[in-house]
Amino acid sequence: MPQPALDTSVCPLCGQGNQCAVAAGQAADTCWCMSAQLSAAALAAVPDALRGRACICPTCGAAATQSTDPQPPGAPI
Ligand SMILES: [Zn+2]
Repeated sequence: MPQPALDTSVCPLCGQGNQCAVAAGQAADTCWCMSAQLSAAALAAVPDALRGRACICPTCGAAATQSTDPQPPGAPI
């Protein structure tokens, strides 16, 4: 079975651009993820086929850090 093309510049969780410096051909230490706190829940949600290959985006990485909040995502305040 042919593998679909892997786009490492796209977030595997939401399909938006992940702003990954490495995918953009820049140094890894310039990537936003080096200064951001990524949640384990967000990383765990990445499909096995893409884990360690495609980065998640800042939005998904940041949103998942709120996962300890008892309110479900999108709940009215
Ligand atoms: Zn995302």
